[in-house]
Amino acid sequence: MRMVLLGAPGSGKGTQADLLKDKYACAHISTGDIFRRNLLAKTELGVKAGEFMNRGELVPDEIVIGMVKDRLRESDATGFLMDGFPRTIPQAEAFGVMLEELKTPLDAVVLLDIDEEILVGRLTNRRTCRACGKIWNLLSMKGDNLSPGCPECGGELYQRDDDAELVIRNRLKVYNDQTSPLVSWYAKTGKLYTIEASASPDETLKKIQAALG
Ligand code: AMP
Repeated sequence: MRMVLLGAPGSGKGTQADLLKDKYACAHISTGDIFRRNLLAKTELGVKAGEFMNRGELVPDEIVIGMVKDRLRESDATGFLMDGFPRTIPQAEAFGVMLEELKTPLDAVVLLDIDEEILVGRLTNRRTCRACGKIWNLLSMKGDNLSPGCPECGGELYQRDDDAELVIRNRLKVYNDQTSPLVSWYAKTGKLYTIEASASPDETLKKIQAALG
């Protein structure tokens, strides 16, 4: 399976990719996660990307494209779930060329479609586990678990720097301006599946699987 998950920040791309990667036994490639790992390790790439990420802006195309090109050459990447890439038309063009060269055409582009105000609520309550990387939402954890740790492994939950409300508003604007044109771009390929994604992760997963057959 070679799939692109498209959608605004907070639409559930990372959560769905996590669920789908086991079903389809393919690599989950998240450009945001690669940048965050590099930022933590203070690599040159991480420091450069961090300047853009903390403002809620996109990392320049040439940096992202080079990084994805390298990642796609790794042996586990013949099947993939692309989470957070492409995010601009030039990235989609370069991605198309990469896939043509590798002779690995896309099977599907899944758009997770969701109302913007729901997104802001989701993002301000999003927490990630420092130990296992699992994504949680404080709203759906209330009552279930009052301890501050990860319900699965007990690790520390933290809020991403770019999930502060002002940065979130900018990320949504950037999505509308620069990424949403990809919807009509991919619609033309006949491989676009639009999934209403405001329900629970499990329900959204079921809708994706039903749409893909
Ligand atoms: P994400 O985890 O996908 O929300 O990405 C977090 C941040 O990483 C984004 O707000 C951007 O600053 C940067 N980023 C991730 N993927 C891309 C991409 N394809 N193009 C440009 N910037 C990206």
